[in-house]
Amino acid sequence: MGLTCPHLSPGRLSQNWESGKANAKRKGMRREIRADYAQIDLFPQSIEDWVPADHPARFIREFVEALDLGELGFRERESEEGRPPYANDLLLKVWLYGYLARIRATREMERACREHLSLLWLTGRHAPDHNTLWRFWKENRGALRKVFRTGVKVAAEQGLIGMICHAVDGTKIRAVASRRTVEHREELEKVLARVEEELARMEAAIEAAELEPGGDYRLPEGLREAEKLRAAIGESLGKMRQAERAHLHPQEPEARLMPCEGRTDPAYNAQAVVDAQAGIIVAEDAVTAEADNAQLVPMLNEVEANLGRVAKETVADGGYSSGEQLAEAEARGYEVLVAAGVETGGPKRGEYDRTEFTFEEKADEVICPQGQRLKFEGRKGKGSPGVEVRSYRCTHYGECPVRALCSRRKGGRRIELSPQSSALLRQRAKRRDPVQQGLGRRRKVIVEPVFATLKQALGFRRWTVRGLENVRAQWALLCTVLNLKKMYAHGVASRRAGAENALRRASTALSRPLTALGEFRAWRPCMRDRCSPTFFYATNPACRPEY
Ligand code: SF4
Repeated sequence: MGLTCPHLSPGRLSQNWESGKANAKRKGMRREIRADYAQIDLFPQSIEDWVPADHPARFIREFVEALDLGELGFRERESEEGRPPYANDLLLKVWLYGYLARIRATREMERACREHLSLLWLTGRHAPDHNTLWRFWKENRGALRKVFRTGVKVAAEQGLIGMICHAVDGTKIRAVASRRTVEHREELEKVLARVEEELARMEAAIEAAELEPGGDYRLPEGLREAEKLRAAIGESLGKMRQAERAHLHPQEPEARLMPCEGRTDPAYNAQAVVDAQAGIIVAEDAVTAEADNAQLVPMLNEVEANLGRVAKETVADGGYSSGEQLAEAEARGYEVLVAAGVETGGPKRGEYDRTEFTFEEKADEVICPQGQRLKFEGRKGKGSPGVEVRSYRCTHYGECPVRALCSRRKGGRRIELSPQSSALLRQRAKRRDPVQQGLGRRRKVIVEPVFATLKQALGFRRWTVRGLENVRAQWALLCTVLNLKKMYAHGVASRRAGAENALRRASTALSRPLTALGEFRAWRPCMRDRCSPTFFYATNPACRPEY
């Protein structure tokens, strides 16, 4: 026999239901739930009752109210006369909740503030207009990035950041600009040459007309347009020369052509460092660089600025492989594991390519693919001033059977190691370690879900603002919202786990004698009179179970 509550006992429920149906039938009515627009509340409603206790809007409210917005640099607006300004915390709540609910346009936010129950609750039934919301964004872009940093600190305090392994990656996100309107230097130069030709032809025609006695001279049509076009092209080419670029979008000059979702578009490169424990983003930035190979150390610096230190190991894909970055990371004491990237520097020599040589730091020797040791022979300056390389030379080339494949030098194969190349060699040795290989395989699992959530769950596939400064603020806001989602889910999960544990403890205490008799089967908590499912024994004696 099951354990049930008298308020929900199937007998009583079916009895009421049957009598209700009989009444309705008698009165010739169909039983349907309909809106009653004339209803009035006996007691005035409280705004606090509008959203449930575990609603994400409550979490956003708690988070924002715990921030010191003045210290974060939010600009205080003062109005001496007329309507008082909206408080910064109110506007920040709207932006954060809007982004959480996939509302990113200020006009949509304005509408949502009038229509969405959770935003009506969050704003206390105030509805800031889109101009106010945009002004708040423009004035507080820098402060919005600091909100992200505070969010990371809160997550660390909650124990959601392990600092054992971080994964860094970047994703290209399309700018608010069409690839069809991008100006290409090569094309502009061709058009300019044609315009110059046309102008020369027109000027020659004018000169010829002037020389003719009594000739009917008329300014050729299109001359002014051609001159305007020449000036516009000259201006665009000037901008490209100044920026040292081959492509430029006139409305979005800071965006670069990047591969995005299978095609090339004007875009920005969004970077993120994610902690392995709970998937919290611990550092973020948006850059204009098309490649990731200069972003490793800047992102690690961001992590250090946000959390005071970096993780025990940071993993990255081959796009981050760069001798300079690896050497700098080593110099700063950052432990990194970067997947093999595209090696540059001269033609490849198959199995005797320099990438196949390993460096043994302890012995200060280079080991060749034949297992012979190349001894250190000296240092010398190379390339740009101040760059010193260490030279290692093969002394076994006389008896080497593959000498011809390895090197044609009479003095034997020589390997020169700059600080960068020794960092690359050390990285190669690190990649051969099976433990590190396992860590490297985890990279995708740590960082890719963050971008997937951003693009699929939040539906963010294109920036909605123009210019690098706006894009950086938007990326910071998105990362803050992603972290808040994680923290909220963690909070709900731990509350549920706590409630389940309490329920389990209560059920265990109650069921001990029953289980001993073998009669206890199931427990169905009753929510009647809003009694807590965890503590209903104590709070509502009417909910005592029946056997
Ligand atoms: S030539 Fe020297 S460095 Fe090259 S494979 Fe032979 S022993 Fe090794």
